[in-house]
Amino acid sequence: MIQKGKKSYPAIMHVDADAFFASCEQALYPEFQNRPVIVGEDRGIAVALSYEAKRAGVTRGMLIQDVKRICPDGIILSGDYETYALFSKKIFSILRRFSNEVEQYSIDEGFVNITGMDKVLNLSYNDIGKHIRGTILKEIGISVSVGIGKTKTLAKLASYLAKPARVVEITEANILESLSGAKIGNVWGIGSSSAHYMNQLGIYTADALYSKNMSFVAKHFTKPHQEIWHEMHGNMVYPICIDEKTQYASISQTRTFGKTFGNKALIYQELISNLEGACRKARKYGLLAGKVTIMLKRQDFSHDVYELRLPRPSSFPAQIAPLLRPLFDGLYEKRAPYRGTGIILSQLQDEKVVQLNLLENESHFNKLEHVYNAVDTLLSRYGKNTISIASSHNAMKKNQQTPQRIMKLPLLVGVCH
Ligand SMILES: [Mg+2]
Repeated sequence: MIQKGKKSYPAIMHVDADAFFASCEQALYPEFQNRPVIVGEDRGIAVALSYEAKRAGVTRGMLIQDVKRICPDGIILSGDYETYALFSKKIFSILRRFSNEVEQYSIDEGFVNITGMDKVLNLSYNDIGKHIRGTILKEIGISVSVGIGKTKTLAKLASYLAKPARVVEITEANILESLSGAKIGNVWGIGSSSAHYMNQLGIYTADALYSKNMSFVAKHFTKPHQEIWHEMHGNMVYPICIDEKTQYASISQTRTFGKTFGNKALIYQELISNLEGACRKARKYGLLAGKVTIMLKRQDFSHDVYELRLPRPSSFPAQIAPLLRPLFDGLYEKRAPYRGTGIILSQLQDEKVVQLNLLENESHFNKLEHVYNAVDTLLSRYGKNTISIASSHNAMKKNQQTPQRIMKLPLLVGVCH
């Protein structure tokens, strides 16, 4: 517990997901937990590994054929990068609940300025780190390591020391001991050639660099390494860059027909069926789309594409489908046989954040949310072809075996098995 009345120290937190891609797979498929998971079958090499796979002797970059030999009970998967990006988005939306100053450094690493939050929450920085770690684990099932320090360099060193699944805070009281646990090459910004140079100066661990005085540093190092030394001493050189990364995750769903055909009604139904699948995925991750792209694939492998910015973010097919109809009518050409359709949802936003801005028409939104909560429950209980909006019903029917009973609703058509 903190002491009241004491001034808050500057505090930067570095959050780094543990074995991120493999953890996403383990979060999605609980049967993979505590088992060696290797992502990378599609590339022929191990791209990401669970800790269990690392313990079994698998290393990153290893050929999949070698992985199979070394780790015969390993679960080898192709990367589902779209899903990993959705998990990433959720991690960062959780971090932004705690601070306005969040920098997305990579898909699974970010910096958060938590200065002063100790006073606001009446918790120590270490306890705040534990709370954030626990929130991410509880809400999306991903384990992260958390490092806390006065600067980004110290925070990143702390999270390196925290791996896996712990919280480490570097303070003035423990800095020498903490830094002695990291090789100089593990300091952020010191690559292997710089590490080699520092080794020649007798610097092997992070505490050895920290212990050099300023005149030594000025004499032997160029500006980037002098900056690292300052950061290690708690003087912030690298600010938090809070611009949200512009590469937004997207959700796509496409389907190619067994043969090309030109039945306009059926092609539209297929398109809407894809819309439902993509929207269902968005709702599963608590995301709303700001933009929808429709795609008609022609027989000659060219695509007709149209992008629509939605008047309000949505993940509800019943809201989006009526907007797509005129676009589809404009794109569709009678003479062009089509071989498939696709939907891409992009400009995804966290629904909790969007809902705060949705004061107008709120009751309509709530009604739709209510309906689709029920839909999602039915879908998860009885399978993905159980229920759909009326306009995709024939496409859905075509894709499944003998439905026994059809139940009509104003917006929805359900098939009860
Ligand atoms: Mg990581």
